Amino acid sequence: MMDFKKHIHDVPDFPKKGIVFKDITPLLADAKAFAAAIDRLAEPFVGKGVQVVAGIESRGFLLATPIAYRLGAGVVPIRKKGKLPRAVKSANYALEYGTDSIEAHADAFPAGTKVLLVDDVLATGGTAAAAFQLLEAIGGDVVGSAFLIELGFLDGRKKLPGRGVHALVSY
Ligand code: AMP
Repeated sequence: MMDFKKHIHDVPDFPKKGIVFKDITPLLADAKAFAAAIDRLAEPFVGKGVQVVAGIESRGFLLATPIAYRLGAGVVPIRKKGKLPRAVKSANYALEYGTDSIEAHADAFPAGTKVLLVDDVLATGGTAAAAFQLLEAIGGDVVGSAFLIELGFLDGRKKLPGRGVHALVSY
């Protein structure tokens, strides 16, 4: 069994005081840990007919892309506001102060497409909940979500009821 936590570094007070940032770059850079993480993230969705894997900017892209390849699916980027060149749909989520939004191309996939959502960290769940909304607004049939890390003490899963949350490591 791969000890993924050994490859995830805690960085206290980044990007601001009081946040312990989970740095996954050592895991990504280790060939064995990276391959094991991608295989384990994809595993519950093998044979489930996933057609598109949607990754959240930007660390989500690094995981969504190899998972999509592993599942024989396409990949769709969910981006921060204003980055995509054509017509978009967007969804808002709450920040500590105010709101932010994420976007995907309005025609990113045909209605009824089976979509898997991927990101590196499930924290409060606000970003993932907005991403589910966004993917459904485009017409996706979102079959589940996969995260490398779940910060269990923040209860993000509560914002994703019935969403089939799959996480490799929990803190
Ligand atoms: P949330 O909306 O609170 O679930 O936050 C999830 C998003 O913020 C993900 O895209 C993560 O990449 C990022 N994030 C939140 N908390 C952390 C953390 N402690 N370390 C690294 N990334 C984080």
